[in-house]
Amino acid sequence: MPSIFTKIINGEIPCYKIAEEEDYFAFLDINPNAKGHTLCIPKKEVDKIMDLDEETYMGLMRFSRKVGMALEAAIPCKRVGVTVIGLEVPHVHVHLIPLQSMANATFQHKESFTKSEFKEIAANIRARL
Ligand code: AMP
Repeated sequence: MPSIFTKIINGEIPCYKIAEEEDYFAFLDINPNAKGHTLCIPKKEVDKIMDLDEETYMGLMRFSRKVGMALEAAIPCKRVGVTVIGLEVPHVHVHLIPLQSMANATFQHKESFTKSEFKEIAANIRARL
């Protein structure tokens, strides 16, 4: 059965899209630690990051850097944190999180946004790509 993220790539589940390349995709996390929290994924569905082939791993990091630079330009923050966990969704994803403090990195404090706020955040990040 395809992962929820494969369904997002295929347009079967909606998302707030940030960027897409032939092999990679980025979209806003639906339950963000902070405004602009973004997930970067390989289209290839692999569960654990260390199981990615080296080319896909390096490509994912290059793509995440590109998206992270746009994020840092679009969202006021001290810096963008980069985290890989993957305990919830078995499809490799890099969390890019605009950080004001350590609290934003803990996954214990969540922020909520309306649909129109999510759309505006995504548009702001896309405009910096
Ligand atoms: P983890 O697998 O622990 O790294 O966390 C999975 C992340 O995916 C969480 O931060 C969720 O909020 C996020 N997530 C789960 N479903 C969706 C979705 N449909 N759209 C966007 N983000 C999602």
